Amino acid sequence: MTDVLRGREFLHTPGPTNIPDRILRAMHKAAVDFTAPPFVAMTRSCFEDLKPIFQTQGPVFMYAANGHGAWEAALSNTMSPGDHILVPETGNFSLKWGMMAESLGLVIEHLPGDWRHGIDPEAVEQHLREDDEGRIKAVLMIHIDTATGIISDVPAVRQAMDNANHGALFMVDTIASLATVEFQMDNWGVDVALAASQKGLMCPPGIGLTACSEKALHATQSARLPRNYWDWRERMTDAQYIRFCGTAPIHLLYGLREALDMLAEEGLPRIVARHERLASAIRAAVDVWCGEGGMAFNAVVPGQRSNSITAIRVPPGYDAEEVRTAARERFQVALGGGLEQLKGDVFRIGHMGDLNEPMILGALGGVEAALQTLNIPHGRGGVTAAIDYLVAN
Ligand SMILES: *Cc1c(COP(=O)(O)O)cnc(C)c1O
Repeated sequence: MTDVLRGREFLHTPGPTNIPDRILRAMHKAAVDFTAPPFVAMTRSCFEDLKPIFQTQGPVFMYAANGHGAWEAALSNTMSPGDHILVPETGNFSLKWGMMAESLGLVIEHLPGDWRHGIDPEAVEQHLREDDEGRIKAVLMIHIDTATGIISDVPAVRQAMDNANHGALFMVDTIASLATVEFQMDNWGVDVALAASQKGLMCPPGIGLTACSEKALHATQSARLPRNYWDWRERMTDAQYIRFCGTAPIHLLYGLREALDMLAEEGLPRIVARHERLASAIRAAVDVWCGEGGMAFNAVVPGQRSNSITAIRVPPGYDAEEVRTAARERFQVALGGGLEQLKGDVFRIGHMGDLNEPMILGALGGVEAALQTLNIPHGRGGVTAAIDYLVAN
């Protein structure tokens, strides 16, 4: 071993994700007058080309912010103090979005979850049926909860709301799912979808996005939560200084423009298929690791294991943080750790964005080497299983 590191670190944190060289180069430009016509035209094209990514006809709003900013934008634009919202618990991200809502003056109704299963649509339906007076104004759903590696079923939750004949707004956090798995905002009846630049969109962190339905735009007229920076109403203009509530994030927009071109070249169906294939190779490896000695997928139900992030439990008595440290320091693979109640129990392999087969095999090799280094009981040959999967599919 040497302390001089060569080559690239393999980045498998579940955000930020790898930024393609094309995007980095696209940002390597001098600053410009962001109110001059060429840049205004480019900005407008970004707003337009984001719509097919969300699969919506409605407007998309862009903030110089991360995902937390998009969370606050979604809430502050549509809710009033004291409004109730329903938060099905899927993991740390549902918890944190709910806590933010609470701090803004909303009242949270929790649907408890065990962080190992997706949202139960029947529980949503039942809870909404009991809300005769319509006090619940929104359902907050995390499509892929990055803390747990679990994907929940958006159309099924929509169906549950419809079955209960409930008029709440349907808000979906697609931060870890947009441009990695299927998401159809309009067809699936989503009122607010939100995202951030540094996950499936392959950009640096710093752009938060909200996409809105007619119903959400209508709700913003009567919503009474204080808002200024986030206010959609102010931002519906081509006047650059107003639509960004100040200086536009010029270089992030150059990057986003390139990312949108790259997404269009590959096309959403192929992007979704690539994520599915690479995630399946990872799951083939994890299956082998789990075969002996007590490692496990955090997501109990195979169909709920997401294609953008895999959360893996170490056997009881072992520390997942050590896997993370060994993978990073000895084998140059950066992983995610367990968040909150999963800390120490779970490590996470992010697999969204600009990735291909050898990158996945490299990451799996680093993880398997870390497991071996630490003598964590696991089935040997995970990387071979991943290769077998990729060869056969
Ligand atoms: C990453 C992530 C967030 C938080 O995004 P930030 O940009 O870190 O604020 C929220 N929700 C999900 C599902 C995420 O994956």
